Amino acid sequence: MSQTQIQQQDAGYHLHPFTNTGRLNEKGARVITRGEGVYIWDEDGNKILDGMAGLWCVNLGYGREDLAKVAYEQMVTLPYYNTFFQTTHTPAAKLAEAIASVTPGDLNHIFFAGSGSEAIDTIMRLTRHYWAIQGKPYRNILIARENAYHGSTIGGTSLGGMSGMHKQGGPLVPNIEHIRQPYWYGEGGDMSEDEFGLVCARALEEKILEVGPDNVAAFIGEPVQGAGGVIVPPATYWPEIQRICKKYDILLVADEVICGYGRTGNWFGSQTFGIEPDMITMAKGLSSGYLPIAAVAVGDRVANALIEHDEDFNHGYTYSGHPVAAAVALKTIEIMKEEKIVETLRDDIVPYFQQSLREALSDHPLVGHIDGVGLVAGMALMKDKESKTPFPSDIDIGMICRDHCFSNGLIMRATGSRMILSPPLVISREEIDELVQKARLCLDLTLESAKKLGAL
Ligand SMILES: *Cc1c(COP(=O)(O)O)cnc(C)c1O
Repeated sequence: MSQTQIQQQDAGYHLHPFTNTGRLNEKGARVITRGEGVYIWDEDGNKILDGMAGLWCVNLGYGREDLAKVAYEQMVTLPYYNTFFQTTHTPAAKLAEAIASVTPGDLNHIFFAGSGSEAIDTIMRLTRHYWAIQGKPYRNILIARENAYHGSTIGGTSLGGMSGMHKQGGPLVPNIEHIRQPYWYGEGGDMSEDEFGLVCARALEEKILEVGPDNVAAFIGEPVQGAGGVIVPPATYWPEIQRICKKYDILLVADEVICGYGRTGNWFGSQTFGIEPDMITMAKGLSSGYLPIAAVAVGDRVANALIEHDEDFNHGYTYSGHPVAAAVALKTIEIMKEEKIVETLRDDIVPYFQQSLREALSDHPLVGHIDGVGLVAGMALMKDKESKTPFPSDIDIGMICRDHCFSNGLIMRATGSRMILSPPLVISREEIDELVQKARLCLDLTLESAKKLGAL
């Protein structure tokens, strides 16, 4: 089939997520045909460096036969069986143990889900259920942050802090509160980073006191906000959040759907930021994106309460612990251990990536600031970086830059005027050089476009 035929079918029958379908149908979706390592190819044969690892997930890169083989073998052995009817199977049991072997602290009890959004729904129900079985059903308020992303189900949308999502498909789930995000470059004013981190964390304490400490079930946050634009919090932020949660005996949940499995340079973002959560969510990198699977790792406190409470937990998904997805996730963890992915990142690739980005791009006239940790980074594009003046809202500078990247063999995502990178964890130094050179070129082209539009 030709590119246009596929585009026509797509336009005729496919409703895309997070997309203005009418506009997309006019120009036609780009058809991606295959992938190998850190590269993907489109229908026209263009080779593109995937600076986003798909959607923050293809951590081990494309085209791994070892992952495909375990999927095939599991499919012919046992393609599906549930874990509801007092039954289990080898992949689910083995994967639960393997996850517990890499999670920090006592996060050793694993509940499976099919996607990050589902894992977040599990968190919302489990944190509230935990307090209910403690005899405190009134402790049901969940606190999250503005501009947080926790998925796109009604639960995830309500818990997340994306105003564009809150506007659609409501009413939202009640008893959820949002506090400010720790975005120092954008909102820190004259404060030092450390000072600002404390101010943002103390917004949690203020909110707790406002709604009453006895009414709060949990605080939930991404160690690094991903879809919100890669917002890396100041070093003071998480320790203060941790202190406040302890003080008021509030459950702390880290949404590690992006940060988990090496993205921040450790197995989990909680380790990078010194968080000791009661529960974490994981998805995306858990199976390197090869099959949909997610999990919630639950610490002793909540797990023991659940285990000791003599009643079913009336919650679960048909595909909780799906054997084929579980087998692939298990293999993913094994590969990460065998190939020392996290060690290589920490000792070599992460410092090289973060340094190369800054050396190549910090002095670019459009780049106001670079946020980054591990193999994830966000860049704020500014009309005038000296005076921190953003582009006017009619100039979608992020989309202009993203389109230049796509046309020049690089996937770099835009969130508003922030450009985002999150490449596969197996990227080499040479591939980082290529990524950074392409990013520089595309920023130059973006600058030219902005001038042509009269925006500069
Ligand atoms: C992607 C993401 C989710 C949602 O995961 P899905 O698999 O898309 O449902 C939840 N939380 C965070 C932090 C994410 O990045």
